[in-house]
Amino acid sequence: MAGKRYLFTPGPTPVPPDVLAAAAAPIVHHRSPDFRPIYERVLARLRDVCRTESDVLLFGASGTGAFESAVANLVSPGEPHLAVAAGNFGERWVSMLTAYGAEVDVLRYAWGETPVAGDLRARLAEREAKAVWVVQSETSTGVVADVRELAEVAREAGALVVVDAVSSLGAVPCETDAWGLDVVVSGSQKALMCPPGLGLAAVSEAAFAATGSSPRFYFDWERTRKAQQKADAPFTPPVSLVAGLDVALDRLLEEGLEAAFERHVRLGRAARAGIKALGLELFSPDEDRSAVVTAVRAPAGIDSGDVVQGVRDRFGITIANGQGELKGKIFRLGHIGWFDVFDITTQIGSVELVLSELGAGVERGVAVTAALEAFEAAGAGHGGGAAEPSLT
Ligand code: PLP
Repeated sequence: MAGKRYLFTPGPTPVPPDVLAAAAAPIVHHRSPDFRPIYERVLARLRDVCRTESDVLLFGASGTGAFESAVANLVSPGEPHLAVAAGNFGERWVSMLTAYGAEVDVLRYAWGETPVAGDLRARLAEREAKAVWVVQSETSTGVVADVRELAEVAREAGALVVVDAVSSLGAVPCETDAWGLDVVVSGSQKALMCPPGLGLAAVSEAAFAATGSSPRFYFDWERTRKAQQKADAPFTPPVSLVAGLDVALDRLLEEGLEAAFERHVRLGRAARAGIKALGLELFSPDEDRSAVVTAVRAPAGIDSGDVVQGVRDRFGITIANGQGELKGKIFRLGHIGWFDVFDITTQIGSVELVLSELGAGVERGVAVTAALEAFEAAGAGHGGGAAEPSLT
């Protein structure tokens, strides 16, 4: 295998050297003045990134742990909830809600479809729900849902709105307060440019007021909120990851959220242009909102796992296979977080070489240029309703 390694999956994502250096600093005590200012700063800036005035609760956990905090705090056994599922992560939340004893109604789509607000309205008219659970960026398919519209419909029906923004927070607009999102959940290892291990949940007052009867301890929101309000944590936090996140949030806010969203739009454009120039078929939508991961159908007769394996063996490049029912059928190119256009051209160039070695009839010698041109093209702006308000 080549000596140099490239991590191009849609999570975990590459971590900038200054973030890694901060995370490698000597350990400080979490209840000492060495840590408290870092913790306070991180919690305040997470509110900026989530665009909320509410508390953002931080857990030593992956994104799934932060999501479980939402389920454990909001669900009481036997209560009606509605989950919107159009891929692997939507289905995970259906399983988790079921495990906690919720009566789950599932608005289910084929993997790769985009949830539609009208469908949600119709379903909520048939059966009420305490909360609607949606995925903003369905990383398994590359679809980014219009969370603003879905949330509006849920709120009209009097339901709370819980959003999985694990792969989207910091990459595409997620306006927690302006869109009336009650809970927004994310993790450190995607657009926040950190190692895996931190989960976060932005929680509205309405959600705090609606907590249920499921057993919980580590993930109890109130316990964490009370401690955080004193710049403390109820349990030992992963101080090294928090120190890394401090530097990563510096980077993100220095670039500016709007500029970061714009960069992700352009990266998505570049990836799609390169893929189309190769003559391959996109699986994820060919739209600007699909700015997180580009999913590509493997050419007929080729297993996408062979493409993933090929770029890894030949070039030390890690891209992602499809998940679940899409395994072997699609491969996924990540562009979340610390990515620039040359990360896209490296992915496209390696896929071109490996696919032609595998005997696929791809167009040679044009895709990298197409990707670069699409990235450079003037007028990059957000497409799709979800993105518009942040550009004003
Ligand atoms: N939700 C989405 C949309 C994701 O992309 C992921 C991670 O891949 C998760 C949830 C789960 O997060 P974690 O693996 O950090 O538990």
